[in-house]
Amino acid sequence: LPPAPVSALQPTDVRRLLPRPEPGGHKYTRGVVGVRAGSTTYPGAALLCVAGADCGLAGMVRHVGEVSDLVRREHPAVVGDGRVQAWVVGSGGGAAAGDELAAARSDGVPLVVDADALAHVGGPLGVPTVLTPHAGELAAMTGAERVDVEARMLHHARAAAATYDAVVLLKGRHTLVAHPDGRVRVTTTGPPWLATAGAGDVLAGLVGALLACGLDTYDAASVGSWLHGAAATLASRGGPLRAGDVAEAIPGTVRRLLDPG
Ligand code: AMP
Ligand code: MG
Repeated sequence: LPPAPVSALQPTDVRRLLPRPEPGGHKYTRGVVGVRAGSTTYPGAALLCVAGADCGLAGMVRHVGEVSDLVRREHPAVVGDGRVQAWVVGSGGGAAAGDELAAARSDGVPLVVDADALAHVGGPLGVPTVLTPHAGELAAMTGAERVDVEARMLHHARAAAATYDAVVLLKGRHTLVAHPDGRVRVTTTGPPWLATAGAGDVLAGLVGALLACGLDTYDAASVGSWLHGAAATLASRGGPLRAGDVAEAIPGTVRRLLDPG
């Protein structure tokens, strides 16, 4: 790989890239995002991933999976299987994650691949893809040591982006978004309180919503990561937060960006 052009995503970039509803639009033209996540072992991951997807940016959220009754009860606007513009797969997916990945991939639409589904990615998926590993998940995928991934995040994110021909969103204190062409965006907006169970599930859903709105994989991953961190900062206000608080703070974060006054 040539030397990496690494840039820090700025609020002005995020404001420019944010999807905005057309005055004459309807829920389908605003984008439909599908979530294949959760299992009876990890029902909460489905709720949190759907909460990230159901942040108000896309026009509709679908959920497919073992715990869809629970999801429908907690998120009244969420509907079942059907056409989508992007799929999010894997958060709390357990044993079904491989099948869910295959099903989502066969639709031909852009994918966010998270958590349990990452272990089933053996090479390029042939559709626009965002992979959202933390250091341990990326190490498990590539055979590298976790400590080495943490020590050389830039190298490993770029190498994986090339290997899988996918945008790699490598999570941690600093989150790196690596494009297969070598470019990297870094986002550092989240407080350390964000290192809490379920935070990554919210992020995966949010990135899926942005893909469904029509952002390309690089913009969806980096704008999603930035908004996620900014929502965490807003929800935390210097104190502890839960993953659900991050999802709830996304609309307010977007509102502040659109109208900073
Ligand atoms: P996951 O490991 O899938 O639950 O995702 C963890 C989330 O927390 C990601 O969005 C990470 O970027 C974020 N995160 C993890 N550690 C830190 C940290 N030390 N400071 C800020 N954010 C973090
Ligand atoms: Mg995770």
